[in-house]
Amino acid sequence: MSSIVLFGPPGAGKGTQATAITNLTGLPQVSTGDMLRAALAAGTDLGLKAKAFMDAGQLVPDEVIIGLVKERVKEDDAVNGVLLDGFPRTIAQAEALANFEEIDMVISIEVPDEKIISRICGRYSCSGCGAVYHEIFNPTKVSETCDGCGSTDMKRRADDNENTVRSRLDAYHSQTSPLAKWYGKRGILFPVNGNQDISLVGAEILELINSR
Ligand code: ADP
Ligand code: ADP
Ligand code: ZN
Repeated sequence: MSSIVLFGPPGAGKGTQATAITNLTGLPQVSTGDMLRAALAAGTDLGLKAKAFMDAGQLVPDEVIIGLVKERVKEDDAVNGVLLDGFPRTIAQAEALANFEEIDMVISIEVPDEKIISRICGRYSCSGCGAVYHEIFNPTKVSETCDGCGSTDMKRRADDNENTVRSRLDAYHSQTSPLAKWYGKRGILFPVNGNQDISLVGAEILELINSR
């Protein structure tokens, strides 16, 4: 099997849906946002380079991010493909990707702009296992305790504030959304209604993958 791209605006639910897709397909999740945050936490050169862009809600330069993904897909667990989450985000990234990875489907999670701010501003996640929650739409069953791993160490992202989200949405519309047409022309774009319950979005996605 080749790779799958999870596409959509910030807050669309890519990370939330990734776990079920990984369970179904066995493809490892490759989230460029998670990789950049790990680099930042580790204080590497990459992290330092990316920080100012991430804080400002702007895209990290293509050459930095393309190199990162190109190296990642060479790892052993990626031989049968990967589930890309948050990459590609520009036409240049998609063109580069096409040269080193075969993409089977691009699942586009569609959510209107007016829903994005409240989704992002209520987001938190588990430091232990990375599970993603939402204060209102998807809270932990026991307050501040992860349903999956039981950790009580919940964290919020520094860039999940209203100002930065607006910049991220601008970046999405100007640089990323043109990719939908780009993949549409290649016949591999599969839109999904992301503006419904998490479980319903998941069901649509799993049905799509199973029908391929
Ligand atoms: P992305 O990875 O696309 O940025 P996330 O999966 O992190 O998005 O989701 C953003 C926030 O919205 C999280 O707090 C998540 O719990 C919540 N969320 C995800 N999908 C839905 C949905 N279908 N309805 C309501 N809230 C959702
Ligand atoms: P979200 O889906 O919530 O917007 P991500 O975790 O995917 O957030 O990305 C966080 C930040 O990391 C982005 O705002 C951007 O600065 C950077 N980033 C992640 N992936 C890419 C990418 N493919 N190209 C450029 N910048 C990226
Ligand atoms: Zn957890």
